[in-house]
Formats: sequence, C-alpha cells, structure tokens
Amino acid sequence: MLSIVIPAYNEENCIVRAYSAIQSLLNENKIAAEFIFVDDGSMDRTYQIISDLSLEKENIVGLHFSRNFGKESAISAGLAAASGDCAVVIDCDLQHPPEKIVEMYRLWEQGYEIVEGVKSARGQEKKLHRLGAKFFYSLISRMAGFDMANSSDFKLLDRKVIDVLNKMPERGFFRAISFWVGYNKTTVEYTVNERVDGESKWSTRGLVKYAFSNISSYSTAPMQTVTVLGSVMLIISVIFGVWALIDKIVGRALEGMTTVIIITIFIGSIIMISLGIIGYYIARIYEEIKGRPKYIISETVRSKK
Ligand code: UDP
Ligand code: MG
Repeated sequence: MLSIVIPAYNEENCIVRAYSAIQSLLNENKIAAEFIFVDDGSMDRTYQIISDLSLEKENIVGLHFSRNFGKESAISAGLAAASGDCAVVIDCDLQHPPEKIVEMYRLWEQGYEIVEGVKSARGQEKKLHRLGAKFFYSLISRMAGFDMANSSDFKLLDRKVIDVLNKMPERGFFRAISFWVGYNKTTVEYTVNERVDGESKWSTRGLVKYAFSNISSYSTAPMQTVTVLGSVMLIISVIFGVWALIDKIVGRALEGMTTVIIITIFIGSIIMISLGIIGYYIARIYEEIKGRPKYIISETVRSKK
C-alpha cells in the first residue's frame, strides 16, 4: 500500500480537491493507498473538512496539531503515522502534479528506495522568492556538500527510509535529510503548477529564517568562518603592532587617532558578528537538548474500514 502524506495549513478549499484528484488517478492505475492529512494547526475549517471526508471515504487518516508547528513537523508526523510500504509527500495545493505519483510509484516497484521530485521549472513565484531560493540553494549546496538546487519536498520514500527518518530525533530538513541518508535513489522531473487556491503560506521573512536554520543544521561552515576571520585579524594586528612599535622607538609619536578608531570599530564588529554566529549554533543546541517534541497532535480521525 502507498501512503500519501499531505501537510495542510489553512487549506480548507484544497483538501477535497487534492483528495479527489489523487484518488481518481490512483483508481485508474489500481494503486491502493491511504491518505494522511496533517492539519498543521489551521485557523480555518481544514480539520473539520478532513474529518468529514474521513467519514465519507475509507482510506483517510487526519491528524490535527495543537498549533502551527510548520511544514517540516507536519511531514514528520505524517511519516510517523504512515503504514504503507512506501509514502509520497505532496503539497495540498496541487502545485506538485499528482500524475507524477504514479510515475514515482512505478519506479519504486522497480526497486528504487527514494524517488525525488525535481523541479524543472519553478512556476509563477514572486521575483524576490525566486532570487532568494536561487541564493539559498547555491549557498546551502556549497556549504552542506550536496546539490540541492531545484529539490523539493515532493518525494516517494520506501518503508526502510521512513523507518530511518522516524528514528531520527533531530529537527531535520526533509529535503536535505533524504540526500543525507543515502539509499538507492532516482529522480522524476516535474513542473510546478499554479496554486489552485489561496496564497503561499511562506512570508519572505519566514523563508529567510528557514534558510538560516537549515544552513546551520547541515553545515558548521559559518562557525569556521569565525576562526578564519579571527586569524585574518591576528595577522593584521601583528602588522599594525610592529608598525606602532617602530614608530614609538623612532620617536615618531602617533597622531593617528583615526586609525585607532577604525581598527577598534572593525574588530568590535567582527567580534559581534562572530558571537552572533556562535550564539546561533548554541541556540540550536539548546533547542535540541530540551528534547521537546517536534509537534503535538491534539486530535486524530481515521476512516472506519
Ligand atoms: N504548510 C504547512 N504548514 C505551514 C506552512 C505550509 O503544513 O506552516 C503546507 C501547506 O498547506 C502546503 C505545503 O505546506 O500543503 C506547501 O505550502 P505553500 O504552498 O504555502 O508553500 P509553497 O508552495 O509556496 O512553497
Ligand atoms: Mg504551494
């Protein structure tokens, strides 16, 4: 059986549409499936609609979070609840073309353990988002050591992979963790559709935060730049130190107040930035070490079979 994991946040108009579109496709192709809708603490009637649908149909599981925990957490919860031999994670807004699920499923039948959806075109997005995404992916690809451009959360995972992910305690980054785990993988290209209803749930601020938190969870390069900056500053200070000493010895007293001010400010800002970077990692360690759950499920519905 195939599990379809669908994170949904304020998607009241998309639930039924997504269900019907995917279910009719699976019927045509005779693929047995269960649907796991994870309502990420929506403020609208999303959960109500999921539970109504679960009464009407027979292959639906609905989870409701106690508040909005974010898409990553919703995906984790969905995968933990999945009971299929493989699972596909797909957005509720049908921006990921459902036809590709069948293609992914066929590849899985041939023995692939991870089938990645790769964007061949990014569809209509705000210019700033497109630029941001480009910058983010080139940065994270370089730092974290794997190519992540055009990757997405649209993937199929084999049971083995799901079990591994379920055991990971860290707040990962779903896209990247599936690179990290390895396994026998392949890709399927897709074109991002227009959103069928509503708006993207990402604000630019949210995206920037997401980018930073994910760079830090896959790379310690920013912390190493602190060391590099420190070394550069050391070399500079030695040069200036020698220069100052020579001036003193020769009796050429410094009139260079400006130099002093510039150097002080410069060193000060580098120290502040470095502390900030280190503080960021400490914050992440603190988050992980508290060991709070990634999400809280406050309600569950399940179709009676
Ligand atoms: N989503 C979620 N929690 C959030 C934000 C989004 O579960 O806090 C879901 C959303 O309902 C959708 C998917 O994640 O199914 C992708 O969200 P969206 O379409 O807003 O993002 P975009 O397509 O712009 O990347
Ligand atoms: Mg979307």
